[in-house]
This record gives sequence, structure tokens and C-alpha cells, in this order.
Amino acid sequence: MTWQSDFKEAIRTHEDLELFFETKFPTTHYPLFIPKSFAEKIKIHGENSPLWKQFIPQVDEAQNTTGRLDPIGDKTHSKGNQLIHRYQNRVLFTPTTVCPVICRYCFRKNELAAKDELFNQNFTEAKKYLIENPKINEVVFTGGDPLILSNEKLAGFLQDFSEIESIHFVRFHTRTPVILPSRIDEGFLALMMSARVLFKRAMLMIHINHGDELDAEVVGAINLLTEAGIEVYSQTVLLKGVNDSTETLAELFLRLAEIKVTPYYLHHPDEALGAMHFHMSLEAGRRIVQPLHDLLPGWALPQYVIDIPGGEGKVPALNPENFSFSGKLLNRQGILTKITQ
Ligand code: SF4
Repeated sequence: MTWQSDFKEAIRTHEDLELFFETKFPTTHYPLFIPKSFAEKIKIHGENSPLWKQFIPQVDEAQNTTGRLDPIGDKTHSKGNQLIHRYQNRVLFTPTTVCPVICRYCFRKNELAAKDELFNQNFTEAKKYLIENPKINEVVFTGGDPLILSNEKLAGFLQDFSEIESIHFVRFHTRTPVILPSRIDEGFLALMMSARVLFKRAMLMIHINHGDELDAEVVGAINLLTEAGIEVYSQTVLLKGVNDSTETLAELFLRLAEIKVTPYYLHHPDEALGAMHFHMSLEAGRRIVQPLHDLLPGWALPQYVIDIPGGEGKVPALNPENFSFSGKLLNRQGILTKITQ
């Protein structure tokens, strides 16, 4: 089966989900999407496994009404042309709202479910914006998941970006190699190799949260990338009930490093509406992450970061004890307060 047909035949409805797993599930107003090949893996790992918790709707999803619609302020920084410009020298480019799976903890789950204007397509405007802002030297493909687009479509974007003199770096943020490993086909490898010629650097950041996601098929796909000389990094989200132990994270990062993936970021969970059952305080996160420094060498240790709620950007989550910015203070519980002089 090709990754495209696997994608087409994915579980998309509550009825299909109950039929496939032969059990009852809570209903949710958020979309549902799991390719059957990946659903088989979830089934093998079983209820309450890290895979199950990440992709099967939980009752808390609908019941817990705390959290933010736009936890990291994508809308505040959206340029209305598929670009989110939060930092001076780089932009997020969102060419699709489609993902290879729907992760129940996703920080963009409300925007993606609502097909937010954030994803309005206007590539001509996007290119114009990049040309007019030459301080931007990097385009980060995100979404949705950019690898759900065809190699031809991605090649077209890369070609266009390479014609803008100031763009030197490209990055793809993706969950696809874990969910649909056969997506890493010859055409995609050729695309990444050509990107290395078009830009100073072209990188792939794989989103992976637990060692159970690294089965032989996924490792095989990653090996294809690294053997082709493609720079591969990982991003992990710290999630309550999924990977919230020092040992689980140490094992994941060491295994990634062994297969030549550089652990890049460990994200503190965002305060997303519908995903607060995965959330934990900054203090709890620090208790888990701090001992990793004793267990892992620096080259296998990702940076633990938190996106300041509301959209002020990413900061290191381990130290210092408090961060102050724009007249506000983020304390060790992750609570944001106004600084009073
Ligand atoms: S693949 Fe990424 S964008 Fe898509 S649902 Fe999962 S976390 Fe969200």
C-alpha cells in the first residue's frame, strides 16, 4: 500500500474508530484522523499506552474548558498570507492545514479545526512579504504538516524561495515520518538533496514524543534520510501521561542520537483549549527535565523551551527561575503576571 492510499483510507469518523478498535469512545467536536496502518500500531500497544493517549480522543478533551484557542499567539503574528512572523530573521510558512494524523494534544488544534484564516493561501503575497523583509533568512515549513504535500508541490515552493536572495535556510517541521514512514520515498530524498544545493542549509525536524514511536519501519525511514546526508533533528512535546518521566525521555533522546537524529527541542506543553489534560506546571516539567543533564551528553540533550503564553516567543524553560518580558513575568509555576514597579 502506498502512503497516499493509506492516507485516503484513514479513520475519519467516530463510527469508523469504534468499528476499527471494537470498543466505545467518547465523542469529540474536534476532527479525527488516523491512517489504518498507524491505528494497527496503536491497537498493538493497547489502551493507556503512550500511542493511544496521543491519538485516541479522551473524555477530558470535551470536558476541560480551560486553555487558550491560540496558545502561542499565531494570530498575533500572522501576516495573512500563510506566513507567521514572530522572530526577526525567520518565518513560519503554513502551506497546508492537513496532517498525517490528528494529535489530540496539538497546540494548533483549534485553529486547524476551524480552518482558520491563518491558513489562507496567498503565495504571491507571501513571496512579496519575504522580498520586502530581507532580514528574514529562514523559512520554516509547518502547518498542518508540509510532508503531506506532493514532492512536486514542495519542489515548487523551494524553487520560489530559492529565488529570493535573502533566504538562506529552510526547515521542514513534520510528524509524517513517524505516522506514514513510506512517505520518505526516493522523490522526497532527491528533493531534500536538491534543497541542500539551493540553500545554505536544508533541515528536517521530526516531531516524536515517545520511544514506542520508533519502530523498525520508522527507523528505516530515518536511516534513508541520514544516509543521504540530510540533516535530521527531533522535536518532542512534554505530555502528561505520555512521556512525563526522566527515564522515558532519556531513552527516547539516546535512541534518536544513536540513529543520528539530533534532539533539538523539548517543548513544555502549551495551554491549548481541548488539550489541557496533557498540561503540567513549569515546576513539574523542570523536575522531570533537570536530571536529564546527568543522564545524557550535551549532543543528545535537547533544549527544554516554553512558548510564552500569548505569543511572546520561545524561551529556555529550565533557567533562569523567572523570565521578564514586555512588562510581564513568567514565574516557576508557568504563571504570567504583570510586573508592578
Ligand atoms: S501533526 Fe502537528 S500540526 Fe498536525 S495535529 Fe499533530 S501536532 Fe498538530
